[in-house]
Amino acid sequence: MSKTFKVAALAGDGIGPEVMREAIQVLRAVEKRFSLSFQITEAPVGWAGIDAAGKALPDATLALCKASDSILFGSVGLPDRDPTIPKEERPERAALLRIRKEFGLFANLRPVQLPKALAHACPLRPERQGDGIDILVVRELTGGMYFGQPKKTEEFFVEEPPAESGATVIMKRAQRAIDTMVYTTPEIERIAHVAFKAASLRRSKVTSIDKANVLENGVLWRDVVSRIGKQHPTVALEHMFVDNAAMQLMLKPTQFDVMLCENMFGDILSDEAAALAGSLGMLPSASLGVTNGEQTFGFFEPAGGTAPDIAGKDLANPIAQILSVALMLRYSFGLGEAANAIESAVGKAIAAGLRTGDIYTPAETTAKKVGTREMGCAIAAGI
Ligand code: NAD
Repeated sequence: MSKTFKVAALAGDGIGPEVMREAIQVLRAVEKRFSLSFQITEAPVGWAGIDAAGKALPDATLALCKASDSILFGSVGLPDRDPTIPKEERPERAALLRIRKEFGLFANLRPVQLPKALAHACPLRPERQGDGIDILVVRELTGGMYFGQPKKTEEFFVEEPPAESGATVIMKRAQRAIDTMVYTTPEIERIAHVAFKAASLRRSKVTSIDKANVLENGVLWRDVVSRIGKQHPTVALEHMFVDNAAMQLMLKPTQFDVMLCENMFGDILSDEAAALAGSLGMLPSASLGVTNGEQTFGFFEPAGGTAPDIAGKDLANPIAQILSVALMLRYSFGLGEAANAIESAVGKAIAAGLRTGDIYTPAETTAKKVGTREMGCAIAAGI
């Protein structure tokens, strides 16, 4: 008998429930077409969790996640809800950061795809877009400058004016902030393996980003990635300094397949790359944890937030959430064919001219403006 994949579906707040509904519809269509079995259990998180059980990540929701093979997440947070709630209890922190920590999610995958039909949504001139942009940013998520110790702001004294001037020295209080960038070889090895494996499922090229000309971390990063690269001989490897990478993303984004980045560089470059897709509503994301046999525990969510300005109005683009399902199938469950079917159904809906408001322009005379529901149904029908 085939395996039943257990999915915790946490829709969250704002547009979360509407886009999750379409994603589940698509997952059910995939289940039918490929004779798979998914046990999808929905649970509250975010303000929905606070309303239901007094906590952004209710105990029962966390227990469900632990008993599942992966988490399909919507988004959490509503800026206008109760500003007096303590920072650490706010959904963005109490739910998202807690889940990241609890499940050891160390790899963040952000694909950026711009189909040719959506060239108008991209801020780059059409001639820079080639046959369409298709980049995967693989970002290390738990190390580097964001977590290294010591991390603090401290007071110290400076001499003013400097003693050499001969004047009376006054000691003046000042502050200094310290962040520490630290990476170990095991941390670099495991994220490098993720990038090379992902590249082998795509166009087999990894561009590793560093600042080896200035940072000790960059030198170690380059050495370790080169060594791991030798274990993946079918994937081509190149190294690029981060400043050049930022520029190349604007000049010739089509040269990239997989970009492998440490935490802070990945944070910045993944947002820069995301801008190329034209709308947050098109961008899925995956955060992966440990691999257990044939499966990798993962957390899959749209790159955008709860979009309170359009929530509940059938205006949200469900594609980011639907493509998050494709990432879950490919990277968590090893179901590449089913993942491809979702991506091609999205491609078909776009090619047929269906557009939610965020990717619509009246200049496209053959395009049809549709709502969340109609877009979701068209994609599900295309599976
Ligand atoms: P946002 O991403 O929610 O919205 C930014 C803009 O993008 C808005 O104009 C919105 O309408 C649009 N947008 C986003 N997703 C869209 C979609 N699927 N279809 C069409 N348009 C879409 O960012 P924000 O307004 O800064 O944040 C709103 C709330 O979401 C905040 O509480 C924030 O903390 C939270 N947030 C949560 C997550 C998460 O859960 N991972 C991520 C980012 C922001």
